[in-house]
Amino acid sequence: MGDEMIYLDYAASTPVDSRVYDRMREVSQAAYANPSSTHAAGRLTHAVIAQAAKQLGGLLNVDPKTLIWTSGATESDNLAIAGATRYRAHRGKHIVTMKTEHKAVTDVFEALAREGFDVTWVDADARGLLDPDVFAAALRDDTQFASIMFVNNETGVIQNIEALGAICRERDILFHVDGAQAVGKVPIDLAALPVDLLSLTGHKFYGPKGIGALYIADRPGCHVDPILFGGGQQRRIRPGTLPTDLIAGLGMTAEIAAGSIDDDLAHLAHLRDLLWNGIREIDGIGLNGDPDGFPGILNVSVEDIEGESLLFALEPICAATGSACNSKIQEPSYVLRALGRTDMQAQSAIRFSVGRPTTVEEVEFAVEHYRAAVARLRSLAPEAAA
Ligand SMILES: *Cc1c(COP(=O)(O)O)cnc(C)c1O
Repeated sequence: MGDEMIYLDYAASTPVDSRVYDRMREVSQAAYANPSSTHAAGRLTHAVIAQAAKQLGGLLNVDPKTLIWTSGATESDNLAIAGATRYRAHRGKHIVTMKTEHKAVTDVFEALAREGFDVTWVDADARGLLDPDVFAAALRDDTQFASIMFVNNETGVIQNIEALGAICRERDILFHVDGAQAVGKVPIDLAALPVDLLSLTGHKFYGPKGIGALYIADRPGCHVDPILFGGGQQRRIRPGTLPTDLIAGLGMTAEIAAGSIDDDLAHLAHLRDLLWNGIREIDGIGLNGDPDGFPGILNVSVEDIEGESLLFALEPICAATGSACNSKIQEPSYVLRALGRTDMQAQSAIRFSVGRPTTVEEVEFAVEHYRAAVARLRSLAPEAAA
């Protein structure tokens, strides 16, 4: 990253930790055989992958055998949602999710609706939280599957996964959680949580891009049909030659995260408070989300200013407007619209996301720069002259 940039977009992606990179380089040179091969070189690769599964299993407190490697959270979400609902089609046609989910979830639900599934989109409250009573009220006798994300990628809101999962367990509903923004960043003990399927990805917590995993609980009835076909790897749930170096990198990423979550959270909370306290006095500013949410994300709207112009005026700060995946489309964020924000409010939203490498100086710079940019854009607006 060039010196002139100030990167505050860690919710979109993160740099690879140098220890992870070292491990990947080592593995790519030493364990290049196909892990499916039964010769000694293949067995070495197989052992490298087994070690990575142990490291990731350690972070989540699960048996490594419950983890399926994928190309990232988009694929894990697709495999979990399409794979489980099709496998359980006999159980019912009703499936449930939220409007504020990531596109990797909502687009799959829309595809399933076209296949004949009946989808209910439950509403969040104004902060983005799903009330377990609202969730329970949406469930029916033929509800077979629900998907609710852990940490929201736009607002940082943390859902009550324990309560929502318990409701699903009582009613024989499979419960999937998109954990892309949560794994390695907030403590997750899957041995204690009533979660059946959990998606994760390496590049959101200082690991490589192009590698993720799906946790599939070892419980009766918890299974997914494959969405890819072609070989016997990973019990045919997700065939294809495993990318050993990426998997070893994700394993190392998980091990590092397991040892640093508490320190990371304290660091992020300090930075978020500094940022919010520095800008909260600005006229017409508002927080999108929940003050008790994940501290790495601060999403703010400001009256009478348009997000794209603000983002442009904020350079050299790299932050996000709307969600990263949609920011090339000039539409207000569907997530913020679902929380009841007006088009204007949603359009002015900037998502700052801080990370492990973020410094106090960078945040102080962002505060000054944001204040100055808002003031400048307001002074240019025709109303200001009147
Ligand atoms: C980033 C993200 C995804 C997609 O993950 P990829 O690994 O980039 O495919 C899915 N869900 C959420 C909540 C995310 O933040």
